Amino acid sequence: VTRTSIASINPYNNEVLREFPTMIDEEVERAVAAAHEAFRGWRDLTPDERAIVVRRAGELMLERRDEFARTVTCEMGKLIGESQGEVDLSADILRYYGEVGPALLVDQPIPVEDGAAVVANRPLGVLLGVMPWNYPLYQVVRFAGPNLVAGNTILLKHASNCPQSALALERLFRDAGAPEGVYTNLFVRGSRVGRIIDNPLVQGVSLTGSDRAGASVAEKAGRNIDKTVLELGGSDPFIVLDGEDFDRTIDAAAVGRLSNMGQSCVSAKRMIVVSDIYYDFVDRLRHRFAALTPGDPMDPATTLGPLSSEQAAENLVSQIQDTVAQGATLVLGGKRIDRPGAFVEATILTDVRPGMRAYHEELFGPAAVVYQVADEDEAVALANDNPYGLGGVVMCRDLVRARRVAERLDTGMVWINHPTSSSPELPFGGIKCSGYGRELGDLGIQEFVNKKLIRTF
Ligand code: NAP
Repeated sequence: VTRTSIASINPYNNEVLREFPTMIDEEVERAVAAAHEAFRGWRDLTPDERAIVVRRAGELMLERRDEFARTVTCEMGKLIGESQGEVDLSADILRYYGEVGPALLVDQPIPVEDGAAVVANRPLGVLLGVMPWNYPLYQVVRFAGPNLVAGNTILLKHASNCPQSALALERLFRDAGAPEGVYTNLFVRGSRVGRIIDNPLVQGVSLTGSDRAGASVAEKAGRNIDKTVLELGGSDPFIVLDGEDFDRTIDAAAVGRLSNMGQSCVSAKRMIVVSDIYYDFVDRLRHRFAALTPGDPMDPATTLGPLSSEQAAENLVSQIQDTVAQGATLVLGGKRIDRPGAFVEATILTDVRPGMRAYHEELFGPAAVVYQVADEDEAVALANDNPYGLGGVVMCRDLVRARRVAERLDTGMVWINHPTSSSPELPFGGIKCSGYGRELGDLGIQEFVNKKLIRTF
C-alpha cells in the first residue's frame, strides 16, 4: 500500500500551503461503490428535486465568494479579480442548470401512426470527471451541474495542483444537500485514472485537459465501452481583417491572450493580421504587453501574475527559446522574470513558420504569435493549418465578410468582434485534436443521458 501526497503550492512564492495523502486503491473502489449506491436513490428523484441541490450550490458559492476566490488564487496564481469573476460565472452556471435544467430534460414525443412514442432522458449512472487547474471551479461545475440535475452521480478527480479547490467543491455540494455518494472528490494522480475507468460501475468519463491525457482516457474508456466527452487543448486563431475600430481590436487581442495569464484553452494564441495593418498591430500590442506590472496576484493592482507552477513557466520559456533558435523574431519578452515565483515575461513572437515549435504547439501562457497574411484566403488557410479546432475570433467591421470567414474556420466555436468567452447557455467545445462533445447550454446536459425510447401500443 503506497500513498504519495498531493500538494497545494502557491506559484507566487513556491510556498507549500497544504499536502493531502493520495487515496489507495481500496479507498477509491469504496468511493466508486458508494457513488453507485447513491445513484439508486438519486435517479429516483425528479429533475426538479435534484435541481434544488444544484441551485443551492450556486447560492452557497456566492456566499463563499471570497473564500473560493482566495483558494484559487493561492493555488494556481490567478489574479484575484479574475478568480472572483470565475466564482461568479461558476455560480451562474449552477443557477442556470438549477433553473432550466429540468426543462431541458423533458420527454420528447415522436409522432407515430398508432399509439405513442417518446424519448425520455434518463441518467447513465456513475460518471468520472477529470479536470484541469486552469479554471478550477468553472471546469468542475460545468460538468457536475448539468449531470447532477440529469441524475448521474459524480466522482471528481481534480488536477493534482489544486486540491484545496477540489475539497471546497466537494464541501459545497454536500452543504447544498447532495446525499452521501452523489458527489465525491478523489485524491488520485492522473496515472491512476485508467484503473478507475476499468471499474465496471463507471459509465462515462469527461476530461478537460491536454490532448495527451484525453487520448489516454478515451482509449481506456473505449475498451470499457464508456461514453466520453473530451475538452482538450486549443491554439485559437484571432483574425484581424481590417483596421476599423483599432482600439477595440487591440483590447480584444490583449484580453484574449492575457486573461488567466494566457492559460486558457480558448486564448487568442495565434494572431493573424492582414498586411496593411500588421506593423501597427504588432506595435500597439507590444505597448500593451510591455505596460504590465508583475506582482502578487492577491493585489488588485497586479496585471502580470505568475503561471500555475514552476514547471509551466519552464515549459513556456523553452517553447519560446526553441522557436527563436529556429529563426523566429522575438519582439518582446521571452524570459523568466528575475523574482521568486513562476513568472514569465509577456512575450510576442513574429516570423514564426511551419516546423518551428510555436507554429504547431499550444503556448499556455502570456505569449502571442503574430502572423502577417495577404488576405482573407491566406488568413483562413493559416488558421486551419493546425492540429486543434477549439475556438476562434474574427475582427472585422463588415459583418457579412466576418461571418463568411467564421463559416470557413475548422473550429467548434467562433466569436465575431469579441474575445472568446463562456456563458451558461452557450455550448462550448471543439473538433480535431481539441476533442468532441459539448458542455454548457442545452447540449451540455444531453451528453451523459440515456435517450430512452418508450413505444406504446
Ligand atoms: P493535463 O496535464 O492533461 O491535466 C488535466 C487533468 O488530466 C488533470 O486532472 C491530470 O491529473 C489528468 N491527467 C493527466 N494525464 C493523465 C492521463 N494520462 N490519464 C488520465 N488523466 C490524466 O492538462 P494541463 O496541462 O494541466 O491543462 C492544460 C490543458 O488543458 C491545455 O491543453 C488546455 O488547452 C486544456 N484545456 C482545455 C479546455 C477545453 O474546454 N477544451 C479547458 C481548459 C483547459 P494530474 O494533475 O494528476 O496529472
